[in-house]
Amino acid sequence: MPQDHSAPRLRVAILGCTGSIGAQALDVCRRHPDELEVVALSAHSRTAELVANAREFGIRRAVVTDPAHASDPVLNELPVICALSTGKEGVLDLVRHDDVDCVLNAIVGSAGLEASHAALCAGKRLALANKESLVVGGDLLMPLAAPGQLLPVDSEHNAIFQCLMGDNTRDVHCIWLTCSGGPFFGRTETDLASVTVHDALAHPTWNMGAKITIDSATLMNKGLERIEAMHLFGVPLDDIRVLIQRQSKIHSMVEFVDGSVIAHLGASDMRIPIQFALSYPERWSTPAPRVDFRQLGSLEFAAPDPDAFSCLALAERAGREGRTLPCVLNAANEVAVDAFLHERCSFVDIARVVEATMDAHRIEDVESIQQLRAIDIWARERARYALSSLGCA
Ligand code: NAD
Ligand code: MG
Repeated sequence: MPQDHSAPRLRVAILGCTGSIGAQALDVCRRHPDELEVVALSAHSRTAELVANAREFGIRRAVVTDPAHASDPVLNELPVICALSTGKEGVLDLVRHDDVDCVLNAIVGSAGLEASHAALCAGKRLALANKESLVVGGDLLMPLAAPGQLLPVDSEHNAIFQCLMGDNTRDVHCIWLTCSGGPFFGRTETDLASVTVHDALAHPTWNMGAKITIDSATLMNKGLERIEAMHLFGVPLDDIRVLIQRQSKIHSMVEFVDGSVIAHLGASDMRIPIQFALSYPERWSTPAPRVDFRQLGSLEFAAPDPDAFSCLALAERAGREGRTLPCVLNAANEVAVDAFLHERCSFVDIARVVEATMDAHRIEDVESIQQLRAIDIWARERARYALSSLGCA
């Protein structure tokens, strides 16, 4: 569709603007000043970057979510027109503000759940990178989302969304959810016992924040993404199949009942799905490099190894049981990944901690954000206990 230059600019709030997705979202906005206006930003602790972004884009509201950084002296350098607030409540006020049309949620972890909920309740477009919102609260969020209101930024889900455009999910036979395989593709369970943080952070195809990079190494990321896809597209978990695609050029595929398979291909550059979530239903020119398929050579496929990557099975169990179990899976994983990143546990301990925490949970129906928050807190405490039982400091 051609760009409509008479249309008002989309007024965007970017939550988690200092992260990997946040920075790439700002780059998309920088390259489309006629279509996009950045009006508000949040950051957790990197206040100097927040201030630099606020000055560049002339924003009206900024939020610092970590109270320990709420009085950083650099915040005095925010533009005079920019109001500053702090904490989770500050983010919720920012999301609901009248001058915001679209919320791009690039916060990491279940800390992003309330903002996603507030954005949908306030009728804003939600460009959602924070997959944990759907893993934890999909039962609450999906009924709130009007058609075209919730646009996935996660590359696979953005790809599936595009493959499904104009088609009915009733005609879907299965979804092929692609996965690079991460840095440890082909390793055995025994090999994985001795991998280091440095090894796990060396992702072969994507440059991302630390938490999702570790999730990509354990394949928990793919497990979380199956649950995310189940909620987004209303497709049963069994029909969402993980497919290793080493080059990360096929971003996912949808196979229809008539045997047709539609794939989404392109560069491994998150600015493509971020931009589509902002431009939809239009398409704008991309800042990303293009793939010359004549130079690409081959595309390789494989099945994941469920024995080596037990997080996949844990996420499958959580997705199948549903209700409050995915919340527990996610919270325990966040605690275990943080411990691994700080070298307080081994790579294979991550799955052990998640499993022990899931085993200890009595599953409930999902009723409210407050209930999910309480279960998230309980699961974090239980996961820390599991870590200490494993002898981790
Ligand atoms: P990141 O660690 O680089 O950035 C996280 C952002 O969240 C930062 O701006 C930080 O200030 C903010 N933040 C951290 N803790 C917070 C808290 N408690 N409350 C509020 N804000 C907080 O992470 P990322 O790689 O940009 O990922 C962000 C989200 O996008 C994650 O949910 C991730 O799974 C998803 N995602 C990322 C990629 C990618 O390529 N990086 C791809 C697909 C999906
Ligand atoms: Mg993804």
